[in-house]
Amino acid sequence: MASNTNPEVLLEKVAPISSSSPHIALPNVEQTGATSFLGGFLENNPYFQAGFGLMSLGVGLTVLRQGLVLGTTTLRRRMLVTLEINNKDRSYEWFLAWMAYQTNATASAKTSLRSAPWIRSHQLSVETMIEQRKNGSSSALFKLVAGPGTHYFKYRGAWMQVKRERETRSMQLMSGVPWETVTLTTLSRDRELFPQLLSEARDLAMRGHEGKLVIHTAWGIEWKPFGQPRIKRPLQSVVLEPGVGEKIERDIKSFLDRRQWYADRGIPYRRGYLLHGPPGSGKTSFIQALAGSLSYDICLLNLSERGLADDKLNHLLSNAPERSFVLIEDVDAAFNKRVQTSEDGYQSSVTFSGFLNALDGVASGEERIIFMTTNHVEKLDPALIRPGRVDMAELIDDSSSMQAKTLFTRFYGGGEELPEQEVQSLADTLEKIVEEEKNAGRRVSMAALQGLFIRHNAKEAIAGCRDLFVDR
Ligand code: ADP
Repeated sequence: MASNTNPEVLLEKVAPISSSSPHIALPNVEQTGATSFLGGFLENNPYFQAGFGLMSLGVGLTVLRQGLVLGTTTLRRRMLVTLEINNKDRSYEWFLAWMAYQTNATASAKTSLRSAPWIRSHQLSVETMIEQRKNGSSSALFKLVAGPGTHYFKYRGAWMQVKRERETRSMQLMSGVPWETVTLTTLSRDRELFPQLLSEARDLAMRGHEGKLVIHTAWGIEWKPFGQPRIKRPLQSVVLEPGVGEKIERDIKSFLDRRQWYADRGIPYRRGYLLHGPPGSGKTSFIQALAGSLSYDICLLNLSERGLADDKLNHLLSNAPERSFVLIEDVDAAFNKRVQTSEDGYQSSVTFSGFLNALDGVASGEERIIFMTTNHVEKLDPALIRPGRVDMAELIDDSSSMQAKTLFTRFYGGGEELPEQEVQSLADTLEKIVEEEKNAGRRVSMAALQGLFIRHNAKEAIAGCRDLFVDR
């Protein structure tokens, strides 16, 4: 069947429909050929007219919306200012801690709400810190900080929006911690408040550390403060054989004074110490007290930690926080047979050669102080105890009669319980006991004596001390 393409014939065909339409269009227009057909079709078709109307409305709204978006973006750009802090930056932790502190301050000082920054945080997240002590006890501390989401607060009269966002798709290399950002937004005119706020946050963080010893632990390839900063232990409270502590202290002080000397000679600016001796003789306590007295932090490194491989170890050793000692305890346990296998058969992935390489490191001007401790120096590979890796090795032994006497007078002297003379004569007795036991091949650790003195009064301590001596 041939199709009829003549528009007039077609027009005739559609005419009955058009005639029923109430809108008879444009009487003066000459309706000929295709134009008249299309014109008539469009004009007379109510569906099309409605559609066209809707379309125009849609276009209009889109243009309006885009205009609004553009307008608000321009307005935002001109009137608002944002600051982005990501969790690689130190101020990230400071800011969250500051916010948490403000929330608590606001909650505990409801009366002075107007002066205190007001935080509307309903989404909180918890940061738990578990502190595992050497004696096996542990404690947990919870810190509530603003969780991911949007929060508002007022700082020095200016409203600020805080957006904490977490990037779930990518993680920080090796540490496995998700990337996070905090974006602070405020009015442009209040932009100078950002530095003020950040320095307040930093001061708050530092105030918590003043006069305290901060211990960092490895977190992937990063060092992170571990637990709460501890009160510094006075150096004299660790009683060593006369001269031993002073010798180490002198050495480290002279090292710290000779940065330029090392630089001039192109020698890597680093020093390694090894303290060896039986357990409970005060090795760790001395290192911590020494760090405190020099206002240094401690970075605790456990070589047997799962997941610690040679490359991570290298990175950690070369990126320890400024002014810190790296403390590696019980190095013999990690490498006594060069390959370490834990009880469940897990093999440490730090190799002995990897450890030596990390100790030697790439020569850099950065200061590095490493302290190692061991209970079994004889098990250590001679390659480790070589100048450059270990520059000073000191024996910290079981209690000598002199140390026992000094510790005793520190515990019981100066009190009201016993006259000073009596304390002295008891201390002399203890000195004699330690000497006698030593001649019989029996020793006592300073830790054991400390335990005895904590539990008993002076006379009881002397009466019961012989039980603590063991054959060594
Ligand atoms: P180490 O590291 O040699 O095993 P620690 O330093 O861990 O010993 O000491 C264990 C405990 O014993 C600590 O509480 C510490 O106070 C006490 N202690 C050990 N040695 C001494 C010492 N020489 N002077 C004072 N206290 C000591």
